[in-house]
Amino acid sequence: LDRLTGGFRKTADRIGENISGLTSKTALDTTTLDDIEEALIASDLGPEASKRIRDAIAARRFEQLDERGLRTILAEEIEKILTPVAKPLDIHGFPRPHVILVIGVNGSGKTTTIGKIGHHLMEQDYGVLLAAGDTFRAAAIEQLKIWGERIHAPVIAGKEGGDPASIVFDGVKQATETGIDVLIVDTAGRLQNKQHLMDELSKVRRVLGKLNEAAPHDVILVLDATTGQNALNQIEVFQETAGVTGLVMTKLDGTARGGVLVAAAEKFGLPIHAIGVGEGVDDLRPFDPRAVARAIAG
Ligand code: GDP
Repeated sequence: LDRLTGGFRKTADRIGENISGLTSKTALDTTTLDDIEEALIASDLGPEASKRIRDAIAARRFEQLDERGLRTILAEEIEKILTPVAKPLDIHGFPRPHVILVIGVNGSGKTTTIGKIGHHLMEQDYGVLLAAGDTFRAAAIEQLKIWGERIHAPVIAGKEGGDPASIVFDGVKQATETGIDVLIVDTAGRLQNKQHLMDELSKVRRVLGKLNEAAPHDVILVLDATTGQNALNQIEVFQETAGVTGLVMTKLDGTARGGVLVAAAEKFGLPIHAIGVGEGVDDLRPFDPRAVARAIAG
């Protein structure tokens, strides 16, 4: 929890700066409520969530509201927005292997998140196989192999420039033959070439669907919190191209832009599985709406 609060410190500070002076000794007037709404938008919470919180504050008809009181309400209202989307990854279904496609733009933290999820599942005694489906970058294949070694998980990889669909095909085959529970697939993240990305992902999906009707069981979009509102555009594009089933937001440690998590929850309502608060293997945290809301509100 401390790491979590520490991770959101800059976000909480940003909100604190933005709302400072917006409290009152008398009932909040419309101007102050408008200022609060603007302060929340400036804190990356997005127009929809900011409006909702403003209305919630207005509805309470405060006699007066000091900064501590405002932060308390913020925490409560943010928690209400986050609670419906907090959903841990569920890999209990059958048949095996459970296939997780991990998507996102390069640099968002895909490979790191795959390593962390793999580690987390292996700690619960699940067998995990990692597949290097980002064949576009040799460095991506290498990175995934390094993570495989770090968490002691096997990695299936081809050559740079190879066909991701064939890696995935081999991955499912190997997982089935060796009784592996979960196959986690890394994918390329070149948004510049949207059509190619779309074709590649639909081919991967087609191959998976032939092997196992329900696969992929999860399509997790990894988002870098430091990109702020860009993360929201990425959700839109990837939803359209890949059919996102859940989110992991990374790099929440040390950014002032953590408010974007609230914006994403309000705007898209997609499940949030976990958050990244560091580069280490244990720095993936389950998404606890109350703890996160309190850490953001400061
Ligand atoms: P990919 O290109 O999407 O596979 O991104 P990587 O997994 O290689 O991550 C890009 C960089 O972000 C690396 O330096 C990671 O160590 C770093 N990174 C990933 N997740 C986090 C996180 O939650 N916090 C911090 N501080 N760094 C992270």
